[in-house]
Amino acid sequence: MTTQSTTPEAIRQTKAILEEVRRITTKPWNIMEICGGQTHAIMEYGLDQLLPEQITLIHGPGCPVCVTSLELVEHALQIAAQPDVIFTSFGDMLRVPGSSSDLNSARAKGADVRVVYSPMDAVKMAQSNPDKQVIFFAIGFETTVPAIAASLLHADRQGLENFSILPANVLVPPAMHAILQSPDNRVNAFLAAGHVCAIMGYWQYEPIAKSYQTPIVVTGFDPLDLAIGILMSVRQLEEGRYEVENAYPRYVTREGNKTAQGMINQVFEPVDRQWRGIGTISLSGLGLKETYKHFDAGNRFNIKLAQLQESPLCIAGSVLRGISKPTDCPAFATLCTPTNPLGAPMVSAEGACSAYYRYHKVK
Ligand code: SF4
Repeated sequence: MTTQSTTPEAIRQTKAILEEVRRITTKPWNIMEICGGQTHAIMEYGLDQLLPEQITLIHGPGCPVCVTSLELVEHALQIAAQPDVIFTSFGDMLRVPGSSSDLNSARAKGADVRVVYSPMDAVKMAQSNPDKQVIFFAIGFETTVPAIAASLLHADRQGLENFSILPANVLVPPAMHAILQSPDNRVNAFLAAGHVCAIMGYWQYEPIAKSYQTPIVVTGFDPLDLAIGILMSVRQLEEGRYEVENAYPRYVTREGNKTAQGMINQVFEPVDRQWRGIGTISLSGLGLKETYKHFDAGNRFNIKLAQLQESPLCIAGSVLRGISKPTDCPAFATLCTPTNPLGAPMVSAEGACSAYYRYHKVK
């Protein structure tokens, strides 16, 4: 995404917009940014500190590494430990603690765990290692799914029998439903993640905004983008409107990228998925369709999971649902740090705990 955040003109405009937010705000409002990338930008530029007291930014569950369930991390660890396996993953996932270990430690003990930058790298690895099973840990929100679908279609065309994925992708709209239906929900408006909407469009959000009377503003990642998204949210709330608005039109259309959506729908279908610290959300994940089930690593390896246990100190579930701030966690910055993370939100580049730790912002 283009960064325009630090030009003098962008800074001037951001300040003017935040001043307008201050001018029109008459009541307390809680606005949740869905995406961890937005959380980091908010912390980095101190936007939360520049807003009027009545506006509280709540950090949402949009960190794919953070919400990947303990069970899936354990599946990954067990598959990686099998002989003749190359287990591939995006880098962030390697340090996420499972019940007793992480993929980095598994690698140190001899497992062949490799970082890749795209699923197609894993497909190429499978082509050049025909005597190994190559597995890709398919994590991420809707943004990563088209590339994963494309890699599977390519592997299928090549008749590759030694490539598979561990499906772990998650979807934003079911998470929004779950947050809004929760009895302890305090979200008044959402900033939707611009990159997800660039793929999926925002038509899916319209019934959510209407039925929960909650404004949703498609928002980008620069401070100026975020300030505009916040202003549009506050305007709707103050005027009693509950609509989906697009504050990121340079990348997002209502319908999204139809070609990417077509690829996703060819390969995947919605399935129930467990979110770490949150629980199972109905139809919130993507599983392989019957035609592509032979690419599911879960079917290729006989995995038996023992009792799984999160660190009893970690309140990540509460942080990911926007109920607590990272600084409410007794382990924050003491027992839990980026070099010794107890929970996934401290590991990931998009995790709220790592954002708070890195930018030292306490509100
Ligand atoms: S600071 Fe660490 S232990 Fe606390 S919620 Fe965040 S990840 Fe979990």
